Amino acid sequence: MTSPAPESTRFLPHSLPTHLQHYINGQLVDSISGATFDVLDPVSNTSYATAAAARKEDIDAAVAAARQAFLHGPWPRLKPRERSRILNRIADAVEAQEARLAELETFDTGLPITQARGQALRAAENFRFFADLIVAQFDDAMKVPGSQINYVNRKPIGVAGLITPWNTPFMLESWKLAPALATGNTVVLKPAEFTPLSATLWASIFEDAGVPKGVFNLVNGLGEEAGDALVRHPDVPLISFTGETTTGQTIFRNAAANLKGLSMELGGKSPCVVFADADLDAAIDSALFGVFSLNGERCTAGSRILVERPIYDEFCEKYAARAKNIVVGDPQDPKTEVGALVHPEHYEKVASYVELGKSEGRLLAGGGRPDNLPLGLTNSNFIAPTVFADVNPGARIFQEEIFGPVVTITPFENDDEALALANNTRYGLAAYIWTSDLTRAHNFSQSVEAGMVWLNSHNVRDLRTPFGGVKASGLGHEGGYRSIDFYTDQQAVHVTLGSVHTPRFGRIDDAAGNEG
Ligand code: NAD
Repeated sequence: MTSPAPESTRFLPHSLPTHLQHYINGQLVDSISGATFDVLDPVSNTSYATAAAARKEDIDAAVAAARQAFLHGPWPRLKPRERSRILNRIADAVEAQEARLAELETFDTGLPITQARGQALRAAENFRFFADLIVAQFDDAMKVPGSQINYVNRKPIGVAGLITPWNTPFMLESWKLAPALATGNTVVLKPAEFTPLSATLWASIFEDAGVPKGVFNLVNGLGEEAGDALVRHPDVPLISFTGETTTGQTIFRNAAANLKGLSMELGGKSPCVVFADADLDAAIDSALFGVFSLNGERCTAGSRILVERPIYDEFCEKYAARAKNIVVGDPQDPKTEVGALVHPEHYEKVASYVELGKSEGRLLAGGGRPDNLPLGLTNSNFIAPTVFADVNPGARIFQEEIFGPVVTITPFENDDEALALANNTRYGLAAYIWTSDLTRAHNFSQSVEAGMVWLNSHNVRDLRTPFGGVKASGLGHEGGYRSIDFYTDQQAVHVTLGSVHTPRFGRIDDAAGNEG
């Protein structure tokens, strides 16, 4: 079912900027060269703004400002409670802008408005969480009675380079900004070039909350130019990256010369495994939401559904019927469940997988643009929720991340086959398991190659838990204390108590004493 609003009734956010600048050392500035790039909205696919395109010299300026603020500014030296108060003010401001953020995000990314609304609250929660964590934070002290005390002196590292993707951009930026700033680092954020709009909100949010100038810097630009200059910069000791696996590999290579701390949150092709003893209705709800929410542009999407043979036909039939009912349409319409894919280039990629799928699986739903798009929206980036059944593990649609509203369904006969299928990709981000057998659930979870497992649950995450993938889905974990660990050095300080008892090299009297 489709219901995009006609072009004439399309809602547009008020006061849309037509030019997006960098924010460096507390100033909104253009690129030194004057270079810009066009930003499209995914419904009209026309350019609504230009954005300043950073080159190496702009990155140098942003890093210099962040380094100055780190070496000589107050931010790294504030007491945790003082930084925590500022972080809470940031969270308040983000919450207060929930409606504005949602309309900008929906306009720029094509996310359905009802799903964009939650993003501000989650972003605010990231700041509150780390505001709490840094005041509760303590580090180890170890004593050897009478002879030594040892303690951990936790320190911010310096300028953190934060490079983020275009799916849920503001929320994913908050994920890195909150722990990096909470721990006293200064930052240069490079948002994705497809979706730079919502990041413009950060500058005034931070300024109003009392973040000193130079602590937060934002540079817009293309990955291969602006992102690359940040990755290679010798004064940026940390890079936190979220994006495609191939980009992560490039960043790894380019960061090697300066041996940086790297956190890599990469792609996924996560299995959703449904056993015959599962609560079928709950599993279907979750398996639908897991791949079609956020337009399927979700790193943890359960995009490979594996179903035990006795319920396979029933599952496929019910799943496809529901997929056909999903409301595809104008992202700003509250009835919309799947909006527009972010960019025509991404649309082309997803559409080509849909075509490929027709020779690799049995098409049960979707298969291209939705029917009945009104005039004016026929060129937008809409793809109907697409379901392929009987997909074998050799198929490209089974192996490759599509990052759109496309899912494969594959039958399995027993637990061993289910596990082999689940692990049969290069990725290892998430896994979803549906069964009422507790022993099987735990055994399967522990054997599946995934950084995160949800048992009889859709994707809800406690912020204290580690987030990250294994295999080609990433290196390092963030989330809770792991983020604090990534953004800090843990210096060990060893102090002698009592007399110093160092072996006395070169002392002739001792040597004589030894001989005697
Ligand atoms: P992408 O890799 O194309 O781009 C991500 C960011 O990297 C952008 O800001 C881009 O400009 C920048 N970039 C590109 N080339 C660069 C280079 N050579 N040097 C430095 N920076 C460079 O990813 P995308 O298409 O924006 O996002 C989608 C991908 O992100 C999917 O693969 C998805 O699974 C992944 N993702 C992962 C997680 C996670 O937590 N694991 C979360 C969200 C998205």
